[in-house]
Amino acid sequence: YKRLRLILGDQLNPRHSWYREKDADTLYVIAELHQETGYTRHHVQKICAFFAAMAAFAQALGKAGHEVLHLNLDDTRADATLPELLTRLIAKYGVSCFEYQLPDEYRLRTQLADFASAVPVTTSAWETEHFYLSDQELAHYFQPGKRHQMEAFYRKLRVRFDILMDGAAPQGGQWNFDADNRNKLKAAELDQIPEPLLFANEVGSILERLGRHNVDTMGKPITPLPWPVNRQQAIALLEHFCRHALPQFGRYQDAMTGKLDVSDRARQWTLFHSRLSFALNCKMLDPRQVIRVAIEHYQADPRKERIGVAQIEGFVRQILGWREFVRGLYWANMPDYAQLNALAAQRALPSWFWDAKTRMNCQKQAISQSLEFAYAHHIQRLMITGNFCLLTGIDPDEVDQWYLGIYIDAIEWVELPNTRGMSQFADGGIVGSKAYAASGNYVQKMSDYCSDCTYQVKQVTGADACPLNSLYWRFMQQHERDFATNPRNKMVYANWQKKPLAQREAILARAEQLLDDLESL
Ligand code: FAD
Repeated sequence: YKRLRLILGDQLNPRHSWYREKDADTLYVIAELHQETGYTRHHVQKICAFFAAMAAFAQALGKAGHEVLHLNLDDTRADATLPELLTRLIAKYGVSCFEYQLPDEYRLRTQLADFASAVPVTTSAWETEHFYLSDQELAHYFQPGKRHQMEAFYRKLRVRFDILMDGAAPQGGQWNFDADNRNKLKAAELDQIPEPLLFANEVGSILERLGRHNVDTMGKPITPLPWPVNRQQAIALLEHFCRHALPQFGRYQDAMTGKLDVSDRARQWTLFHSRLSFALNCKMLDPRQVIRVAIEHYQADPRKERIGVAQIEGFVRQILGWREFVRGLYWANMPDYAQLNALAAQRALPSWFWDAKTRMNCQKQAISQSLEFAYAHHIQRLMITGNFCLLTGIDPDEVDQWYLGIYIDAIEWVELPNTRGMSQFADGGIVGSKAYAASGNYVQKMSDYCSDCTYQVKQVTGADACPLNSLYWRFMQQHERDFATNPRNKMVYANWQKKPLAQREAILARAEQLLDDLESL
């Protein structure tokens, strides 16, 4: 071979221009790497999904007539790092040219750039051709350390890519329909949750390999694996979502339930969410295709009886808005971003984050579901586990490691701004203008968790009081100097000041007591 091209596990983009021509002199390498299973403790389903998707991609490339070398953990046993593997392969095949696609993660991008500058063959780095904004363009939109508004960015992209526009105006006469998207799921509405499309992918041999190589994982394995691992499955999941869940997507975007019984567990965790994040993040699915297909479904319904403009807009905003936005902020602010700790949070994560053994029903539901399915939807991540860590001042390094490991879709470029930024406010407000802090009241408003909890959501002090209540007030009081200047917090501080001094003291005392023993919650 003359040329070796590396394909990383999250670069499974079959439409990349690399594959337009077949070339017998080019060898494509897809490899299970020990450095990738070991850089954090991953959920076992996450590794299974990546390895199965890589194998399927290698097979599809081979079938399409390309030269492919697919290596598993046994084959790369002796290669402690990616550069070691590449050095070995470049020598073995005598290639004169090494090419790779720009990794989306700082760690890998630096590693490959260092390798490419030292290796004695010609090298070139390509765009992944996946995102709406190319790597080159990001600097036009994002400056380091600066606060950017998602909404302003999103509108620019709507106009630029002409998505859901009527000429210069947004379809439906509004850019944002968030206000229509805040419904709780009432008991009578639970049977509207569609049956999810789950796949049955055999991952027994991957699990065996992980065992053989002593890969340290978290969470429960599921065989067969329900996640999509090839393009056909990813497209089927997209179609299923557009048909069955998109009509209610925005409406119940923030809703949570723990009420469906064991035999109906699947509907409980999938709700109206697309669960496309894994397929998108490993690039089996192109964001343009996802948005195009969703809009086709919306347009196929001219009277908008099934899919309303609020639903399609809500979905498009997640992918065109949030997804591209967090990526831009990640690249503008790395590597410093990974060290930010604006609220000086230093506590350790309670051990029940790894076994869900807590009496707080909201945490128990979100964590047990994450361990079982490697998935929680946005509001569970942000307003249940994220909010708990924010209020209790957990060290953002620990919070990041947990989120980076546990979710099927967790890759640092998207995990870090969401966790350290949006949910922990450790970036001091680069991603979001306000800390997403909430008391038990929010959980009760958006879920049915509180009615099955041993703690009382209406109580603030006393042994049975919902811990989130006093922790919330303590958190707001502790950061008053920073937060009081934000007009959105004015009411909060006015309410706090209205409480009699003795009550305020009792609330703070209860919070301190809880903080002293987070393990026993
Ligand atoms: P849906 O609710 O169906 O949304 C559709 C798509 O929109 C998602 O697939 C995703 O690609 C995109 N999207 C929605 N919200 C966001 C967002 N805030 N940032 C980026 N993309 C978004 N997402 C990840 O992909 N990987 C992560 O590691 C990750 N970590 C998170 C950590 C925290 C603390 C929080 C609050 C959010 C995190 N998110 C992450 C964002 C979001 O929660 C997930 O993308 C979403 O829950 C995935 O499920 P879904 O595909 O069913 O999403």
